[in-house]
Amino acid sequence: MGEPTPIHSGQLDRRGLLFILSSPSGAGKTTLSRMLLAKDGDIKLSVSVTTRPPRPGEVDGVHYHFVTEEKFDAMVEEDDFYEWAHVFDHRYGTPKGLIRTALKEGQDFLFDIDWQGTQQLYQKDQQDVVSVFILPPSLDELRRRLLARAQDSDAVIDDRMDRARSEISHWAEYDYVVINDDVDECFDRVREVLDAERMRRTRQTGLIPFVRELMG
Ligand code: 5GP
Repeated sequence: MGEPTPIHSGQLDRRGLLFILSSPSGAGKTTLSRMLLAKDGDIKLSVSVTTRPPRPGEVDGVHYHFVTEEKFDAMVEEDDFYEWAHVFDHRYGTPKGLIRTALKEGQDFLFDIDWQGTQQLYQKDQQDVVSVFILPPSLDELRRRLLARAQDSDAVIDDRMDRARSEISHWAEYDYVVINDDVDECFDRVREVLDAERMRRTRQTGLIPFVRELMG
């Protein structure tokens, strides 16, 4: 007689989740998002729509869908957004697209959005949201990182520092908070959160049939 055949050898079916990374500009969420997308094949970016002009190197449809004010108005009118908000002098929104169907099929989505978007997503779909707030180790370090990016003028950086304080004041609205002192360590913590949340009993939709079969 050989080994008994396991009744389940792979992963069980599960529902996808909406994974939010928020932080003030410069605290590292974009780097962390890129690392996550590169290393984790089960999560993909929800590409936002924005009225702000592209920065050098940004590609339409990859970093954002860049649209005119008129097009954004039309999308609001058509109820095409999961959520949208004014951030700085522009508007940003999450297109509904295929998100709802994809969640049922176990696809996870990454959201690089601010606290306003996070609150709206919670209101629309609390069960699927997992939110992580990334804190900088200090405000001095945050300013240093913004200056190192060298894509914005001094006035814009001062403005972003003011807004950073306001963004940080929302830290307690998040499920998890991670300090980004060392980006690799921070990434490991973020990944642990994602892995654990994927294993939540309520997300493992394949458990009921599995246990039924297990118990004969
Ligand atoms: P940036 O212009 O630097 O790419 O983004 C500015 C801010 O807009 C960031 O804090 C970012 O998280 C936020 N943001 C980007 N996309 C969305 C979105 O779809 N919805 C909301 N509410 N905020 C967004």
